[in-house]
Amino acid sequence: MAVVKTKSKARPNGKVRTRKNALSRNGKLSTKYVYAFGGSKADGRAEMKNLLGGKGANLHEMASLGLPVPAGFTITTEVCTYFYANNRTYPKTRRTEVAKALQNIEKIMNARFGDDENPLLLSVRSGARVSMPGMMDTVLNLGLNDEAVQGLIAKTGNERFAYDCYRRFVQMYGDVVLGLKPVDKDEIDPFEEILEAKKHAAGAQFDNELSAQALKELVAEFKAAIKTRTGHDFPDDPMEQLWGAVGAVFSSWMNERAIAYRKLYDIPESWGTAVNVQAMVFGNMGEDCGTGVAFTRDPATGENIFYGEYLINAQGEDVVAGTRTPEPISRLEQEMPEVYKQLLTIRQKLERHYKDMQDVEFTVQNGTLWMLQTRNGKRTGFAAFKIAHDMVKEKLIKKEEGLRRLDPKALNQLLRPVFDAKQKEEAVQAGHVLAKGLNAGPGAASGRIVFNAPDAVDWKKRGEKIILVRIETSPEDIKGMDASEGILTARGGMTSHAALVARQMGKVCVAGCSTLEIDYRARTMTAKGQTLREGDWISIDGTTGEVIAGQIKTRPSEILQVLIDKTMHAEDSETYRIYSTIMSWADSIRKMNVRTNADQPDQAANAIAFGAEGIGLCRTEHMFFGGDRIDAVREMILAGDEAGRRRALDKLLPMQRQDFIGIFEAMEGLPVTIRTLDPPLHEFLPHTAHEQADLAAKIGLPVEKIKTKVEALHEFNPMLGHRGCRLGVVYPEITEMQARAILEAACEVKQRGKKVLPEIMIPLVGHINELKLQAQVVRETAAKVFVEKGMKVDYMIGTMIELPRAAVVADQIAKEAEFFSFGTNDLTQTAFGLSRDDAGRFLPFYVEHEIFENDPFETLDKEGVGRLMQWGVERGRATRPKLKVGICGEHGGDPATVKFCHKIGQNYVSCSPFRVPIARLAAAQAVLEETEKD
Ligand code: PEP
Ligand code: MG
Repeated sequence: MAVVKTKSKARPNGKVRTRKNALSRNGKLSTKYVYAFGGSKADGRAEMKNLLGGKGANLHEMASLGLPVPAGFTITTEVCTYFYANNRTYPKTRRTEVAKALQNIEKIMNARFGDDENPLLLSVRSGARVSMPGMMDTVLNLGLNDEAVQGLIAKTGNERFAYDCYRRFVQMYGDVVLGLKPVDKDEIDPFEEILEAKKHAAGAQFDNELSAQALKELVAEFKAAIKTRTGHDFPDDPMEQLWGAVGAVFSSWMNERAIAYRKLYDIPESWGTAVNVQAMVFGNMGEDCGTGVAFTRDPATGENIFYGEYLINAQGEDVVAGTRTPEPISRLEQEMPEVYKQLLTIRQKLERHYKDMQDVEFTVQNGTLWMLQTRNGKRTGFAAFKIAHDMVKEKLIKKEEGLRRLDPKALNQLLRPVFDAKQKEEAVQAGHVLAKGLNAGPGAASGRIVFNAPDAVDWKKRGEKIILVRIETSPEDIKGMDASEGILTARGGMTSHAALVARQMGKVCVAGCSTLEIDYRARTMTAKGQTLREGDWISIDGTTGEVIAGQIKTRPSEILQVLIDKTMHAEDSETYRIYSTIMSWADSIRKMNVRTNADQPDQAANAIAFGAEGIGLCRTEHMFFGGDRIDAVREMILAGDEAGRRRALDKLLPMQRQDFIGIFEAMEGLPVTIRTLDPPLHEFLPHTAHEQADLAAKIGLPVEKIKTKVEALHEFNPMLGHRGCRLGVVYPEITEMQARAILEAACEVKQRGKKVLPEIMIPLVGHINELKLQAQVVRETAAKVFVEKGMKVDYMIGTMIELPRAAVVADQIAKEAEFFSFGTNDLTQTAFGLSRDDAGRFLPFYVEHEIFENDPFETLDKEGVGRLMQWGVERGRATRPKLKVGICGEHGGDPATVKFCHKIGQNYVSCSPFRVPIARLAAAQAVLEETEKD
């Protein structure tokens, strides 16, 4: 058959697409659906993840690198797409392609599929473009039947082993393909139930104590249970078994947990999964066999050590399932020195080749090492930062690549709390430490005990903080894990499901805490003779592995201790040093400035510590609530005329001036954007009878008058009512007082020898005339202040763009405004016609049912609101080419939004202090993504 190789070419989305097409008999191009690998050769490559899935593409790559990979083939993701588009059927050519690839395996592995003398056994596994650990199905030991098992006995001389393979196969196939599973969350797995009965009858404690005869009986009992409970006969024909397993793996792309996982990690359904069919190698054939998983660096801390675990005489799933607690990989050096040496060489080869930390699976069969998988290893936020940092220092990658790999949101993990040391020590001294497990996911978490995932989701909905306690977790638990503060398991190692998923989610996790006795039915957990029940408080330390009864207060991370609390020195904290180096790399690349939203000097100081380069939004109304100012504010609102209002405003003036002095001092010459009064006035008024009576006494007005005024100020739709610049337009004296406070403060600070850069921002402008009127008040006030003070300060007047109309007429508005700041909270509200205050009732439904891709108040709606912003920038700059543009809505700290702001040419983003580092990193990535495309 003629093969036409099309060249790989970069697509507009930056992905590489490579495809082989084959000329069919009638000369038409047909797609190749099956890619073979093995014997140091492979049809595919690592870059072909879209077609071969991550696992498949890496198997092909490892085979090409000459690593010992059992031969196999990959059925492409396009077959999965076809499968779903064509009523779960396959393309016509697949049978011949699979048969040919199977022959290739038989040749390389020197065994025959279904043979009764020398049988080839296969594994059938899923493999999507990105790893979805444990979410889809797998079948192992495929190809066994009553004849082939005899071949396996003859080949290995080990009847017990052969029947163990057979019963594992029937069990897995029965579960995955034929559907014999527990029916509810409290039911025991039906196969486990039969197995337990068999062990009980044989007086065996562990599976490996069962005799060949007992295992043979199990095969028959499993098959009978399948027939009785599902109505399916167990297929004896190996080819039928193979297609059954392939179909089940493709079908598992649409199972509930895979769907949930995709949703959680934004993985499109259209990607589909590939299926990898590969020769089985056995780690459970005796004491010179074993299986393990390893990371080329520590996935929890990022330390540059070979990290992992293994089990002698076991199959791969034994390590991950957590049924036996594995040995640390370093022990393998004593048990199998040659294999260990080979693994160390492979570790180095893989890191040099992939230039990233790898997560590998291996099996040793009769002393021979086989590599079953490699992929970029999942890691905690801590580890991600350390590995990127160290690999740049080791010159394995450039700093740009280091930055590109980081998830800005993972910075939350570095800034994550630890237990209050004193409280924890007290708990330890008081004997509250119940147990110690593996420190699988760092950080500290306190919560109430819940024993299953559905309950975890319900409790979280009720607003409870919870710790999910399980014997071991399975992919079904994914939603419950997501709902928890932390996860505690009794079984499993550092690479168990719980540990892997928790690290990826950034959850605190203590795993393999084997001294815990967990009773799901009684909903209790017992350790050290103490029994805790569902709902009791528990604290887990994912950094040390301790499990402590009761609630413990948490404390800020080391970075905060260095930067904010100043209770730690930079040189004493490696985490801080890594953070600060990476931030300096980001700063050297990013083009946008990052400012903060802050209303108080202490917030401003925190934000500067996090790297803020100015204040992008100071909401002056927040200052109106401090101390007894609210009384003066209320007096102003209730005043019957301008003179009355001015009297009250005169009381407020010195207080506001003092606030601004504090902020200007804290910002030390950085720009400060101060917004004039924005919310509807009734938000400040007393609404209860008690508050009204109190105010009446304070300001000497009859309570009735206060009540009437409050009623008069009632608005049906206050968000679109008398708020924003409309307040200053109708009551210019309010803007006048605020402008005076700002400019007098600026003069005073300047007089003290400090630089000040005030930017006065008018909110909710929809029409140029509104801005003109407000700008005039500010300018006239400034002129007066400067005469009175005998000095001048530079200041700017700008506006927020929060209304679609403002974006549309931005060219007119820019005639008056020296800067724009997108108030995307309101702009989202007004563009969608979606009340910010009420959307919580129905938006989660929209997101859950994928009516909206995201909550538009969390991450910017680029298509709609984003287009208005783009319009605003373009039109504004058409009038005023140097117009300064920023964003100060909540979106300013969302990485995807930050990147969008860069793309449309904004000068800065502004976000809450704790999100400043996230925005700095995202802004650098925006530049890197742009250069990547060029
Ligand atoms: C906005 O609307 O985006 C904004 C920053 O203003 P506020 O949230 O105060 O309405
Ligand atoms: Mg607003």
